[in-house]
Amino acid sequence: MIAAEPLTSPIRTHEHGWITESRHRTSEGLVIYVRCVDCDAHRIDMVPSAAATPAALSTVVTGA
Ligand SMILES: [Zn+2]
Repeated sequence: MIAAEPLTSPIRTHEHGWITESRHRTSEGLVIYVRCVDCDAHRIDMVPSAAATPAALSTVVTGA
């Protein structure tokens, strides 16, 4: 009995084809649950609410 050696390494990188499973709006931003249709990998994306509309919180501060 020998240990099965996978022909394709699970850590092999490829072009993931992410599809959005669900998304939830939180106070931190938008949390998006995505899944790869090819290798069934999962990933959770976080889109900070600030990223959608990048705005300066202050005026430009220059070193005096
Ligand atoms: Zn994949």
